[in-house]
Amino acid sequence: MIVGLTGGIASGKSTVSNLFRKYGIEIVDADKVAKEVSEKKESIEKISNIFGKDILDSDGKIVREKLREKAFKNRELLQELNKIIHPQVMEYFKRKKEENSKDEILIFDIPLLYEAKMEYLCDKIIVVGVDVQKQIRRVVARDGSSKELAKKIISNQMPLDEKIKKADIVIMNDGTLDELEEKVMKIYRELKER
Ligand code: ADP
Repeated sequence: MIVGLTGGIASGKSTVSNLFRKYGIEIVDADKVAKEVSEKKESIEKISNIFGKDILDSDGKIVREKLREKAFKNRELLQELNKIIHPQVMEYFKRKKEENSKDEILIFDIPLLYEAKMEYLCDKIIVVGVDVQKQIRRVVARDGSSKELAKKIISNQMPLDEKIKKADIVIMNDGTLDELEEKVMKIYRELKER
């Protein structure tokens, strides 16, 4: 069974993922997959053709900060980058799905699951949600970004209430970490019983 795990920035996805991992569940992390894809030789070549060789270090590896800076300044470049990375990430997830046996739980941790239209890969979807004021505080505390940047990132993502409407399971992460752990444990038991 494939369980998608999603939610906005700093909602607590990684924290929830780590709890499931502690219970022995395998997690496929979309950010990690995307990073690996972008480190492949063919990808580096395509990316540096679009973004310029100055995003590479002396070993020919991509300097992620430089790439990120250019991509976020220019929407067209960002789209070009996505065109290189997304199809390969999608292929990877499809393969993992094909390899999964129905009675084994496999979690797909995908921050932009709905935005990237990847719901169809999942049998069930968990949305992690948090009150927006708390979310802003957690972004600022974790990433050291300004309140304004945190608000901007959040407003560029699909609103939480829309995600909740589409979800099979919702974990509200407004309480303590102990409360979150209890919620995750309960869901883990329910998933195992299916
Ligand atoms: P995401 O993966 O969704 O971006 P994280 O799991 O990294 O979010 O959580 C964002 C930040 O908030 C992290 O610094 C994390 O330790 C913290 N955090 C998550 N849940 C709680 C909670 N219930 N109480 C306090 N801090 C939390």
